[in-house]
Amino acid sequence: MTDTYIQITQGKFQLLRFPIEKHERLRAWDAADEYLLNDVAAKIDAIENPRVLIINDSFGALAVALHAVKPCCISDSFISQLATSENLALNQLESETVQLFNSLDLPSGPFDFILIKAPKTLAFLEDILTRLQGALSPDTQVIIAGMVKNMPASVWQTLERLVGKTVPSKAVKKARLIYATPDAQRIVPTNAYPVCYQLENTEYRICNHANVFSHQRLDIGTRFFLDNLPEDNKYQQVVDLGCGNGLVGLIFAAKNPKAHIQFIDESFMAVASAQQNFEHAFDDRSASFITRDALTNFEPDSVDLVLCNPPFHQQNTIGNHIAVRMFKQAKSVLRTGGELWVIGNRHLGYQASLQKYFSKVELLASNAKFIIVKAF
Ligand code: SAM
Repeated sequence: MTDTYIQITQGKFQLLRFPIEKHERLRAWDAADEYLLNDVAAKIDAIENPRVLIINDSFGALAVALHAVKPCCISDSFISQLATSENLALNQLESETVQLFNSLDLPSGPFDFILIKAPKTLAFLEDILTRLQGALSPDTQVIIAGMVKNMPASVWQTLERLVGKTVPSKAVKKARLIYATPDAQRIVPTNAYPVCYQLENTEYRICNHANVFSHQRLDIGTRFFLDNLPEDNKYQQVVDLGCGNGLVGLIFAAKNPKAHIQFIDESFMAVASAQQNFEHAFDDRSASFITRDALTNFEPDSVDLVLCNPPFHQQNTIGNHIAVRMFKQAKSVLRTGGELWVIGNRHLGYQASLQKYFSKVELLASNAKFIIVKAF
């Protein structure tokens, strides 16, 4: 059975991963969370009314353990925020003990502690640290925690550049901490994010926030999907599921002037980018932009077409569990006759997963690397 109780200096707390899976084998925290919490306990106690900022908590382990100091928490993940709220409730803690901020709406400082769980995307770390300069005082203790395999040299180099001198801890259970001290002389470059480019063979200018999938350039899988999107008036209500910067829904909308598109992603930065890109492309066309966990609580039998380039990881955990859940949910939101179009790497074997939920699965297009399938 998976352990759901974390025991650290601050106490013992129950923590679950989200979305809840029946036979979950992974814990909702890792050795880096434990290391960081044990390390900061006495340091936080030594300061009266400490102001603590947590960035990129996975499922709320840091927020729950540090609830007593009423931390501010920044995350780009809707699921992570949901997990934080649910895990607070699971431990009979008031939701107000933690202030949640999405990645585009940062709290004002200064903070005594900035505790960062190493993000998957270095760009996200760069962007957040650049925008948080006002939250750093000369005495702010900045600590980043991660599993050694998720902390390449570029992580501490980014801290050195945007905060100041760094000192690494020794590795414990394959986790490491890096301490950074703000350097009053640091020269912070202009923020490189959002990143904008002209979409090839179109007039569309695409801008992406830092944590968006393939934010620097058009992904080759997405390009293949764009080249094969359908054009048909039968698709009226359409969902771009896991929309990222919204390119799939945007190009579909251009081909299908009467369709109404709902853009859905669990990343706040993705949904904001999709909205900005769509509104820039179309002056007077309405669409919906929703930050949520896939199609959870979506109206059943309401959609003609779901377009999906599924994620193949959740935070640092690789797997097709989120994709498979998206397929299952898509089945219930589609009207009779509705279709799910999925693009994926050939080796991911999405056809077999789709056959569990749909009576027909057809191969629509393929190249050396990708396949596009229609399930209905
Ligand atoms: N549709 C974009 C494209 O084709 O370029 C992005 C595809 S990217 C492979 C997968 C997207 O799914 C990411 O933007 C990710 O944030 C989003 N995602 C991951 N888990 C999700 C979830 N549970 N609910 C909604 N979106 C999710």
